[in-house]
Amino acid sequence: MLKFDRQHIWHPYTSPTNPLPVYPVASADGVRLRLTDGRELIDGMASWWCAIHGYNHPRLNAALQEQAAKMSHVMFGGLTHEPAVKLAHTLIDITPTNLQKVFFCDSGSVAVEVAMKMALQYRAAQGSEARTFLTIHGGYHGDTLGAMSVCDPVTGMHQIFGNALPSQFFARRPTCRNDAEWRDNDIADFRRQLETHQHEIAAVIMEPIVQGAGGMHFYAPEFLRQVRKLCDEYGLLLILDEIATGFGRTGTMFACEHADIVPDIMCLGKAITGGYMSFAATLTTEAVSELIGSNGGIFMHGPTFMANPLACAVASASLELLLEMDIPNNIGRIAKGLKRGLADCRELPTVSDVRVFGAIGVVEMREAVDLAVIQKMFVERGVWIRPFGRLIYVMPPYIICDNDLNVITSQMVEVISAL
Ligand SMILES: *Cc1c(COP(=O)(O)O)cnc(C)c1O
Repeated sequence: MLKFDRQHIWHPYTSPTNPLPVYPVASADGVRLRLTDGRELIDGMASWWCAIHGYNHPRLNAALQEQAAKMSHVMFGGLTHEPAVKLAHTLIDITPTNLQKVFFCDSGSVAVEVAMKMALQYRAAQGSEARTFLTIHGGYHGDTLGAMSVCDPVTGMHQIFGNALPSQFFARRPTCRNDAEWRDNDIADFRRQLETHQHEIAAVIMEPIVQGAGGMHFYAPEFLRQVRKLCDEYGLLLILDEIATGFGRTGTMFACEHADIVPDIMCLGKAITGGYMSFAATLTTEAVSELIGSNGGIFMHGPTFMANPLACAVASASLELLLEMDIPNNIGRIAKGLKRGLADCRELPTVSDVRVFGAIGVVEMREAVDLAVIQKMFVERGVWIRPFGRLIYVMPPYIICDNDLNVITSQMVEVISAL
């Protein structure tokens, strides 16, 4: 199996001819991944932010099976169905009240493309020529061309794809951390970019409070409040990419709640189906959809698997589970466990920073780690953690118990001490 895999199958972000090693997994249950050789690993990654309720969940399985017995898929052009309507209802209920319009799509990257296209069509309907997006350094928004163009130009993939990407405006990343005191000049560069380029800017796009795959930075909510204020002043749309932060990860249902602001367009993905399948949604306001629809305008996007009933059904079941959970309490419990468990990393000479926000724990190293080596060390110690660059980080399923969490953090401390 591993030989065929190595010869024929591409894995994420690795060489197609000399890929990093992979571990064959046979099944997964709760917070445990079972490898084909029988070893069990405690999952620290929630399969990249997705599996918030753990694996093989009876209620999610049942939702999927019940829906499959009715219909797995029908096209969404000219048809609609209860799973889509029910899910849209819930999403409208739990997101900020100004967001009333839902566009279902297939993955996070596509949700970002859809958001950018909404903003472009909105600006065009205003009679504006603005075609460029303003974002901040350190972001990550996905792997398609449009989404890549607003990823961090250094840690993103701009060197490889160069001028195949539309060129966007990048403001300095906030230096004030989420738990630090606000300094007013943190917004200065962003404000300057807005002033200078206001007539060229189609919209502002960023991740709220937590910048994920662009470097796992946590920034001050005040920055986001100021961004909102400036967008209002200049009449610009604010797109918030909540694909990683949405659905409770930071201790509130959505991360924008920490700043008490609302976006004009919101991208959701990753945990939306509880980790069962690829699915995403882009939400916007009446005002945006009204303008796009004015003078007979139509919105030009429509994926084949739009509003897939299986995905909608399992997403509704996952949201039910989430709404039954006391989010601040349970995420607070995980945050406490991560803070206590990772505290010892601070003293290590190889470590430059340790930070925890909600159910996200990050140990930033001084140097990039050797992924193959460190991955093997973690697997041998019974935990599944996949670092990138200088970052060794975890965002476990919300159902993780204190004991398993303690195993994860103590293995992190041991492995990092042994490097
Ligand atoms: C993962 C991610 C995306 C891309 O989602 P995919 O489903 O991988 O296409 C976009 N934005 C953010 C913030 C993400 O974390």
